[in-house]
Amino acid sequence: MKPAAGSCPLCGHESTSAYKNGKFRFPKDIGAGRLCRCNSCGLVFQNPIPDDLSGFYEAYRGEEGKRFLNEVETIVKFFRRRRAVAINGLFARPGRVLDIGCGRGQMLQELRSMGWECFGTEFPGQAAKGLPFRVYDSDLVDLHLPGESFDAITLWHVFEHLKDPFSALAEIGRILKPGGLLVISVPNIDSLQAMIFGENWLHLDLPRHIYHFSPPSLSRALEKKGFIIEDWRHFSAEYGMSGTILSLGAVMTGKGPDFFNALRRGKRIWTYGIFVYSILMAPFAAAFSTLEALLKKGGEVIVLARKSGGSLG
Ligand SMILES: [Zn+2]
Repeated sequence: MKPAAGSCPLCGHESTSAYKNGKFRFPKDIGAGRLCRCNSCGLVFQNPIPDDLSGFYEAYRGEEGKRFLNEVETIVKFFRRRRAVAINGLFARPGRVLDIGCGRGQMLQELRSMGWECFGTEFPGQAAKGLPFRVYDSDLVDLHLPGESFDAITLWHVFEHLKDPFSALAEIGRILKPGGLLVISVPNIDSLQAMIFGENWLHLDLPRHIYHFSPPSLSRALEKKGFIIEDWRHFSAEYGMSGTILSLGAVMTGKGPDFFNALRRGKRIWTYGIFVYSILMAPFAAAFSTLEALLKKGGEVIVLARKSGGSLG
């Protein structure tokens, strides 16, 4: 394999290879984007990093801030509440939480109802209006938030989108209280589903996902910034199962990654078809996600890490 130009942004190693021999389709208008894998730490990343991806986020949110069908919205709400319950359960009393890339703020709304003081960040113009808490519309590193001011900071499927996730980690380390909790969930590039589906894997999400982590590379990034890893979660009903179901759809329809874009922009009849297909496939996907979790190769991994120097919670 021909080595790609540039060293690994995580470990600095000079030797990188084209991931899976470069067999990945990028949208034509982004140029010669490619995926590299560091031969030392295993981080997979786009090289070069695209300059402006804003056009690729327009299809992310539907009209009036609703991304999905009402039926799917109910399921999404259930999962957002579950996140809030899980975080709240790790603390003896509510504190201050920052959700980076908070979307419509559903998890924060739930945490607020449990007594948490909530803050979020979101893209300019995409932050939900009228929320009863502050949503910043700048990058975290530009906000200059007060040091040691948060009990918990969360990034749900956001870390892989950041142009410089390593600077963001340093800033998170600065603004978390000693002993504060950091929760990061990312797609797992070493998952069974990533290996099986290759370029048809839903969570590859090119070109929006710039970095593709696995537990070893994410551990390395966290430990480099002084975080202490407490726990890993390898089973994901939400992202793990949808990854299997929709990647299989991309393969069966022969549409490849275009299948997911059709889904985002799709007409209602098409969206309903996918919804029914997903329900029918759910038992199979649940079994597959369980197998992935047992092998510690889940489609999504969640890591819980603490800032050293105290014991909050
Ligand atoms: Zn590396």
